[in-house]
Amino acid sequence: VKEQGKNNFQFYTPDMNEAVTKKMKLEIGLRKGLERREFKVHYQPQMDVGTGKITGVEALLRWHHPELGNVSPAEFIPLAEETGLIIPIGEWVLYEACRQAKSWQDEGLPPMRVAVNISSRQFQQSNLLEAVSRVLHDTGLEPQYLELELTESIIQDSKYAIGTMQKLKEMGTSLSIDDFGTGYSSLSYLKLFPIDTLKIDQSFTRNILADAKDAALVQTIINMAHNLELKVIAEGVETQEQLHFLTQRHCNEAQGYYFSRPIAPEDLSAILRGRLTA
Ligand code: C2E
Ligand code: CA
Ligand code: CA
Ligand code: CA
Repeated sequence: VKEQGKNNFQFYTPDMNEAVTKKMKLEIGLRKGLERREFKVHYQPQMDVGTGKITGVEALLRWHHPELGNVSPAEFIPLAEETGLIIPIGEWVLYEACRQAKSWQDEGLPPMRVAVNISSRQFQQSNLLEAVSRVLHDTGLEPQYLELELTESIIQDSKYAIGTMQKLKEMGTSLSIDDFGTGYSSLSYLKLFPIDTLKIDQSFTRNILADAKDAALVQTIINMAHNLELKVIAEGVETQEQLHFLTQRHCNEAQGYYFSRPIAPEDLSAILRGRLTA
């Protein structure tokens, strides 16, 4: 394997841009990562702000590269999209997240929703519906416990988006719009598309106490979501003051470091079991 690795870099020259070299390493690594079992899924709880109960978890992919160490998804997901490797990797995340959610239920923990990020390329893949249906069947997870996090770019990129979303809804899964408000898209899609939840992007949440405009935007998103009968969840909640702001304005759910970072499934199940016996 090492020999092969070397051959792949035979055209390397010392003056070659370091970033380009890293990108090549990442791309080669991504191709091998699945079979080498270098990926893991971590889970971040989503809390009902009214009751303080965990209603769901978001599945977030983690990658440990043998040489580069932990690589951030912000770095490797765009590359996986570019190369199409997001298709097999994304399918693995979907399977793993549903398997884990079902396994928590089988352990006797209260059923929770699991939210899985679906990238634009993955969404446009013709067999997405087939993949979702197969994963639900193979893992035995009931569809109401699966939420798919989509971005506004999906709606812009695909003229079939509405049809695919309708079929996902017919299957029984729920749909949320991730990073809501950052996609520069027209709001009219909100009345056309079968969406359940808006996720307020963390760039808005971050400054709600310091910046009156961000506060106004967040307030407006919450009100609009409720008027459209959508649920709203704020991401990136890091402080009690932010949570207080959101609670007062009737945001439904919150997610962020204030409650928990994304953590390994065994750590989360320990916390969940602790909550049951507490
Ligand atoms: P995202 O879907 O918007 O996920 C939220 C990101 O914010 C995660 O970063 C999470 O760890 C981080 N985060 C959560 N709470 C807080 C907080 O209170 N403060 C701050 N500063 N950050 C917080 P992460 O895990 O590095 O993921 C980055 C992005 O990579 C995700 O953004 C998502 O777009 C993408 N991604 C991650 N896993 C997957 C996956 O399985 N499939 C796809 N297609 N994309 C993924
Ligand atoms: Ca997300
Ligand atoms: Ca997000
Ligand atoms: Ca994001």
